[in-house]
Amino acid sequence: MRDVSTRPWPADDDKFHEECGVFGVWNATDAAALAALGLHALQHRGQEAAGIVSLDEAGIFHSHKGQGLVGDNFSDPKVMNSLRGRAALGHNRYATTGETALRNVQPLYADFAFGGFAVAHNGNLTNAHGLRRSLVGRGCLFQSTTDSEVFIHLIAISLYSTVVDRLIDALRQVQGAYSLVALHNGALIGARDPLGVRPLVLGRLGGTPGVAGGAPGWVLSSETCALDIVGAEFVRDIDPGEIIVIDDAGVHSVKPFGKHQSRFCIFEYIYFARPDSVVEGTPVYDTRKRIGAELARESGVPADVVVPVPDSGVPAAMGYATEAGIPFELGIIRNHYVGRTFIEPTDQIRNLGVKLKHSANRPALEGRRVVLVDDSIVRGTTSRKIVEMVRGAGAKEVHMRVSSPPTTHSCHYGIDTPERAKLLAAQHDMAEMARIIGVDSLAFISLDGLYRALGKPAGRDMARPGFCDACFTGDYAIPLTDAMGNAADRQLSLLQVSQ
Ligand code: SF4
Repeated sequence: MRDVSTRPWPADDDKFHEECGVFGVWNATDAAALAALGLHALQHRGQEAAGIVSLDEAGIFHSHKGQGLVGDNFSDPKVMNSLRGRAALGHNRYATTGETALRNVQPLYADFAFGGFAVAHNGNLTNAHGLRRSLVGRGCLFQSTTDSEVFIHLIAISLYSTVVDRLIDALRQVQGAYSLVALHNGALIGARDPLGVRPLVLGRLGGTPGVAGGAPGWVLSSETCALDIVGAEFVRDIDPGEIIVIDDAGVHSVKPFGKHQSRFCIFEYIYFARPDSVVEGTPVYDTRKRIGAELARESGVPADVVVPVPDSGVPAAMGYATEAGIPFELGIIRNHYVGRTFIEPTDQIRNLGVKLKHSANRPALEGRRVVLVDDSIVRGTTSRKIVEMVRGAGAKEVHMRVSSPPTTHSCHYGIDTPERAKLLAAQHDMAEMARIIGVDSLAFISLDGLYRALGKPAGRDMARPGFCDACFTGDYAIPLTDAMGNAADRQLSLLQVSQ
C-alpha cells in the first residue's frame, strides 16, 4: 500500500522502508486480539499507523484505526472489546510526512450490495493513477489518496456476481505488487500478485485455545514471525498469483492468472523481513549469515574486528566474521528507545538522528582495524556519521562491507525509497563513495554473490532471475505505467488534510 501523494524522505535514517504488514484471522474467539498481536509482531513493516476491522456473528463490521504503533492503538480494553467477532483483518502502515491522514489508514472498508468488505494491502500498484483517473471519470468517489482504494472501486463496478469473481476481475486490471487480505461476510481472502513480489503466508490455529466451534482457525500474515505469537502453525506460503479463500468449509485456492516466474523481492532477505521469519521456505537469519560469508569471500580485508551496524547488519556481520576468522564485536550500540522525529528532514537533522540512535563502544574499537558491516547504503548520510563515530572512538582503519549490491534504482513495488538522484550509488563510483563515506575501503556484495548466498550456485540467471532485484539492476519486471505518465496526473485530491 502506498500513499501516492508526494512525500519527502523520512527524517530518522536513510534506509529503504517496508511499507506495510497485513494480518487476517478467521474463526477464532478473540480474532481482533490475535490480529493486534500479529500486527505487533509485524511492527517492523510499518510504524506510522495501524488498523483492525473485525466481523461479528451478526455480519456487522467493527473498525478502529489510528496513527502510531500497534500498542498505541490497541492497548485500551474498551477499543478491543468493541472489535467483536471471530474474524478480523489488520494492517500496519509505513508512511512518511505528506499524506499521513487517517483517511489513508487501512484496512479500507466499503458497503456493497453483497455486504461489507474490508481490504488491507502491502505493495504498490504501478498503474493506480491511470486507473483512478478512469474510475473518477466513471463517477467513483475516492475517499483517500492510497493506491489501495482502486481495489474497492474496481470491485464495486465489476459485473461479476460473486465476491471472488469481482476481486479477480479487479486484480486483472491492476499492475504492480500486492499481497492483500480482504474480509467479507462469508470469507477471509488472501491474494498475491502474479509475480509474488511481496510475501504472504497461511497459518493454522487448530488445536489452540482461541479457536471457536471445533473447526480450525486460520491466519494470513505478511511473515511467519507473526504466527508464533498467536499460536498458529505455519502451513505454507501463498503462491504468486494465488487467491486463497478461507470460509467455514475450509481453505480454497484459485489461480486465475496462469503461471509466471516468481520475482519475490530479494531485499526482504537482506533487510525488510524480521530475521526470525522463514520467507519462501528459506530462513532469513541463515540467509543473512550466508550473505555475510559470501561477502567475506569476495572482499575480505586484513582486520582485527568485525563490527555490525545494528540491528539489521548483525547476521551478515556474524557470517562475515566466521568466514574470515576475525572476532565479531558489538562496536556500535543502538538505542532502541528513540521514537521517530517529524521535524523537517534536512540533511543536518538526519545527521543528528544517527547520534540519537547509535553510539560507539570505544573498548571494542580503539586501536583496531575495523570491518564495518551494514546491509545497504541508500543516501550514505547515516554511513558517513557512523564511520565518523567509529573513527572518533579510536579505530585505526575502517573498512565498510555491505551485504547488498549498490542500490542504484528506486523501488516502485511498495518500498519507500528516495528518488534516484538521491541514491549514493546512482551518482558516484566506488572510489567516490568510499571518499564520501570516509572509509579506508568499501565493497558491496556482487549481484552473483547475493544469488549464490540465496542458493543459486551459478549466480543470477539473466533471463530468469527468480527474484525482483530492480533496485540493484533497474530490471523492473512489472511495467511502471504511472511513473512513465504525466506528472500532472499524479495530483490525486484537492483536499489538504491537517495532521
Ligand atoms: Fe524489493 Fe528492490 Fe524489487 Fe523493490 S525494487 S521490490 S526493494 S528488490
